[in-house]
Amino acid sequence: MRISEDSIKEVLDAADIVTVISDYVNLRQSGRNFVALCPFHKEKTPSFTVSREKGLFHCFGCGAGGNVVSFLMKLEKLTFVDAIETLAKKFGIKLKYEGGFNSDEDKELENLYEYSLLAMQFFHKNLLETNEGRSALKYLKDRGIDEATIKAFKLGYALGAWDGLYNFIKTNKYEPEIFEKLGLIIKKEDGDYYDRFRGRIIFPIFSTIGRVIAFGGRILIDEKDQPKYLNSPESRIYIKGKTLFGLFQTKDEIRRTQSAILVEGYMDFLSLYQKGIRNVVASAGTSLTIDQIYILSKVAPNINLIFDGDEAGQKAAVRSIELMLQTDVNFKIVSLPENEDPDSFIRKSGREKFLELVEDGKNYIDYVFELASKRNALNDTNSKLKVIDSLLEYTSKVRDPLRREILAREIAKKFNVTVNSVIKN
Ligand SMILES: [Zn+2]
Repeated sequence: MRISEDSIKEVLDAADIVTVISDYVNLRQSGRNFVALCPFHKEKTPSFTVSREKGLFHCFGCGAGGNVVSFLMKLEKLTFVDAIETLAKKFGIKLKYEGGFNSDEDKELENLYEYSLLAMQFFHKNLLETNEGRSALKYLKDRGIDEATIKAFKLGYALGAWDGLYNFIKTNKYEPEIFEKLGLIIKKEDGDYYDRFRGRIIFPIFSTIGRVIAFGGRILIDEKDQPKYLNSPESRIYIKGKTLFGLFQTKDEIRRTQSAILVEGYMDFLSLYQKGIRNVVASAGTSLTIDQIYILSKVAPNINLIFDGDEAGQKAAVRSIELMLQTDVNFKIVSLPENEDPDSFIRKSGREKFLELVEDGKNYIDYVFELASKRNALNDTNSKLKVIDSLLEYTSKVRDPLRREILAREIAKKFNVTVNSVIKN
C-alpha cells in the first residue's frame, strides 16, 4: 500500500534529523551544524555533518548525503515505506494509506515481509495451541523459558508433518512462490512443495526495526540424519552475516548500558534474557562476521564475547579475536568453565555469578597468555616465543599504526621483554 502524500509530508515536517541520527552516532555541535564520525565509512576524524535547519546530512569523506529518510534507508537497509513508518512511530504520527505500491520492487519486499509475518503467527499458534506443540512447550519450560519470554520473542513450533505450513498456505490461498522465496517451503519435482522446518522449535529472527525476516529451528526430538539447528536460507530480506538474533528486542538496553554480551546460540540468548540479562545478542545461525561486529558497535562501544570453556570454544575465541582486531571496537573475552555453555552455566550458577564472570572478562593479550600458561606453554623459551609470535600475528590485523604500537607495548610488558624486540619482530 502507498502512504498518502500528506502523511509523508507530515512525517518529514516532524522528524528532526538530529534526533534521529543521534540514535546511531554521537553528534557533536559545531557552529550551526553537528558533526560526527561517519557511520557509512571508516574514518578517524569526523567528516560527517548534519544540518538541523536544512534537514540534511552530508559526509565529505565518502559523499553520502540526503535527508532523514534516506539516512534511515541507507543505514538500516529499509525501503522508503519502512523508513517512513519507522519515523511515524518514533514521532507519534498516524499514517494514512492509499491503494497501490510505490514500485514492483517495493511490492515484492512488502510481500516477503507480510508472508514472513504470517508464517511466524502460524508457528507461534502451533506452539501455544496444538497438541503437538505441547511437547515443544514443555521442552522450553523445562529449560526455564517462561511464557512471557516465549511471547516476547514469538517463539513457535513447526509441525512434524511434511506439509504443515504448506497446508496452511493452501487453505488460505496464499501464494506459495513467496514462501518459497523465503525458503520456508521447497519445490518438489512434481511441482508440489514440502516444509523446510519440521518438528522444530522455531526462533523468529527480527530485523532491527522489528520485522520478521527469517527463522531458526531447533529439532525437538534428535534424529541422527537431521541437523540439530536449521536456519532459513538467505533471501531478499535476510542476509545472515548482517543479522543479529535478539538485537531488536535488546538494543535499547544495550544502548543504555553501552555494552553488549554476545553469545552464539538462540538458547544461550533466551536463557540469559530470561534471567534478566537484557543487553545480550546472539550471532545465531552463522559464526561471527565482521558486519555483525560493525552493526553491534553502532549500538554499543563495548562488546563482551562469551565462549564455551572447551576446545571448540577456545578455537572460536581465537577466530573472533582476529575479527575484532580488524575493527576498532573495545572487546573482552569471557570464557566459561569447561563443559559449560552460557545456558547451562546461568541455570546452574545463577545471574550474579554469570555477571561476575563477564566482569572478569580478559583483553585478548591476557586471554591468550592465560590460555598458554594453563597449557604449560610458557615453561620454556621456544614455547614462549611461539605465544608472543601468535599474539603479534593477531595484532598485525589492527589497521591503525598507533593502536598497533600500543598493543605491541602491552605484549612486551606482559612477557617482560623490551618493546623494540617485539616491534622489530
Ligand atoms: Zn562517510
